[in-house]
Amino acid sequence: MVNRYWCGECSFKTPWRGGAEGLRRQIEHYAEKHPGTPPGGQIETRRRHPGRGHGCLLLAAVALVLLTVVAACRP
Ligand SMILES: [Zn+2]
Repeated sequence: MVNRYWCGECSFKTPWRGGAEGLRRQIEHYAEKHPGTPPGGQIETRRRHPGRGHGCLLLAAVALVLLTVVAACRP
């Protein structure tokens, strides 16, 4: 999972980063742009590798292998 932190004071957003990197950027941003304001805003998360499409490809590969096996077994 990667996170993106949105500033609650302005339209700043951190780049997509995994782990605590985004939070560190957010804190740095607040220290620089909004001194004295506790870091707020919202956190956006998403999966690093969306699995969409791969399942279908795998199914097609399995079907192809099965077809080959069936064809090879025929007399
Ligand atoms: Zn800001």
